Amino acid sequence: MTANKRKLSSKKFLNLLKGFAVYALIGFVALLFFVSLSGTPDTGTEVPISKVVSDVKSGKVDKIVVDGDKLDVTYKNNNKTVFARKESGESVYQILKDSNADPSKVSISVKDNTLSQAWASLLSTLLPVILMGGLLLLLFRHAGASGAQSIFSFGQSRARMFSKDSPQVKFNDVAGVDEAKKELSEIVEFLKTPEKFKALGARTPKGVLLVGPAGVGKTMLARAVAGEAGVPFFSIAGSEFMEMLVGVGAARVRDMFATAKKNAPSIIFIDEIESIGRMRGMGGIGGGHDEREQTLNQILVEMDGFTPNDHVIVIGATNRPDMLDPALVRPGRFDRRVVLGLPDIEERKSIIKIHMKGKPFTKEVDIDKLARRTVGFSGADLANMLNEAAILAARENKKAIEPVDLEEAATKVKMGPQRKRMQTEEDRKLAAYHEAGHAIVGHFLPHVDPVHRITIVARGASGGHTMFPPTADRSNESKTRLLEQISTAMGGQAAEKLVLNDISTGAASDLEVATSIARSMVMEYGMSELGPISMRPKSMFGAWMRPGEEGGEISSDMQSKVDEEVRKILEHAYSNATIILKEHKGELEKVAKDLLDKETLESEDFVAIVGKKVTAQ
Ligand code: ADP
Repeated sequence: MTANKRKLSSKKFLNLLKGFAVYALIGFVALLFFVSLSGTPDTGTEVPISKVVSDVKSGKVDKIVVDGDKLDVTYKNNNKTVFARKESGESVYQILKDSNADPSKVSISVKDNTLSQAWASLLSTLLPVILMGGLLLLLFRHAGASGAQSIFSFGQSRARMFSKDSPQVKFNDVAGVDEAKKELSEIVEFLKTPEKFKALGARTPKGVLLVGPAGVGKTMLARAVAGEAGVPFFSIAGSEFMEMLVGVGAARVRDMFATAKKNAPSIIFIDEIESIGRMRGMGGIGGGHDEREQTLNQILVEMDGFTPNDHVIVIGATNRPDMLDPALVRPGRFDRRVVLGLPDIEERKSIIKIHMKGKPFTKEVDIDKLARRTVGFSGADLANMLNEAAILAARENKKAIEPVDLEEAATKVKMGPQRKRMQTEEDRKLAAYHEAGHAIVGHFLPHVDPVHRITIVARGASGGHTMFPPTADRSNESKTRLLEQISTAMGGQAAEKLVLNDISTGAASDLEVATSIARSMVMEYGMSELGPISMRPKSMFGAWMRPGEEGGEISSDMQSKVDEEVRKILEHAYSNATIILKEHKGELEKVAKDLLDKETLESEDFVAIVGKKVTAQ
């Protein structure tokens, strides 16, 4: 691919022109879309609708402009604007009236959206043109792929297409991950005093792969390596390459490596490297295939071309090491692998401490409890949680962050923000029995984690939830525990049936969870009467293929046996849940009543009704 790197200058000009035409077209289409679809941009911060209602009640609101489901709210004394969202179909007037707020206290107006409708109709007239443009683009890409590689060779001429920075982050700012730090300190040493390594004839490191789930601090750690060594840090995300036109990715890689070498010793950081370094021959969906291959090849060429004097270290980060092209991890390329996992309890404690710095907390805030409560949280989740808690406390004009703020923030980070909406009494009753059902069934099954909190406050898509956060970092699940978890998931619907003698659609996601556990038990863990067999379907593009689909691995005969086993597990779990609920009907009623009164029950409130949990351990 280096042979046709140079082009005749007249041809280059023509290419440039074509390139501009395409860019202009894309720009125009994007603009049209933006204007027609986005309506007015959001102004101010988003607040829950309940806040708007209470502010109307206290007479603070001047006017509300209704823009579809969005409400733009302007306050009286300082002209501050915020926005809130309502359910579609609800009327603001009715929402206010239902909450005993007087709608005549504010001016309510409806935004005229005819302008954006006009754009939409214009867009539909222009659709054929856009399609033509798309076709043109495809043709150009094809030309690019079949040899005329630098048809859009803007790579070198663009100012800087990756970011350069000199991080001040140090290893001490990254909590936990001690193993990783130890392994990376050698790289720091090398960047600081490359001569020392050379004098002893050590092979100089070239590439390090940081492997781990999102938010565990891969980027932070890579930056800390640069910070510790005091060298510049060049970074780009693999996915950015995918948005580029053919040839630009490779050019950008060349450009980035050249700049890094000029500034050596230095670090190049490629985030989400699996999106370029994915095994060749696996992709191809939606184009971009040739682009990825060219970009990947260019990275390999650059890394192979390092001389011992280059002193550039390439750090790649990925959460899908299984998808990487083997060529990337060959000796002399990304041959070192540093694995980061989700933090354990001690690590969470130290991450929490780092992100608590500079924020005031009341003395009731207990770090140990917080760390215990946040099993499964990544470093990024913990950082978000503390930040959200500070925002919540500030919103309520508190002087310091309280445990309730942290609790709300933890839930928000994992489940999305609260959705205060007008619920009918029927809905609330249903939700209360449903959640009480989960809680009671879980409580009386010895292997299920203790109930932490039950609430019927709607959040995300759910009408309420019951939390059983894990009390330990488990790396294994037993069959008994899985079965008990399925029964607990069934507890909601079983309670609806038992008490209200009807069932609702609210159990859809419970059933999904239960079914997926049951399916894994049968197909992956050998935990059914079909015996010890793995029917894990082949993985393609990172997604599991459905059994029976082309490439799936089981026969249709086996598939119906699997379905039968799954059904047996689910039915057994459902009747188990019903038995427990019948036995503890009194407690079920009491928990549901309390939920209707208070909306949220903490573990202490729950234990006061049902008694202390008897666990299996
Ligand atoms: P990744 O690259 O693994 O997705 P990041 O390095 O981008 O994760 O982490 C995002 C944020 O989460 C960081 O900026 C930091 O605030 C926080 N964070 C993650 N891991 C840690 C950690 N081990 N110690 C302190 N903060 C962390």
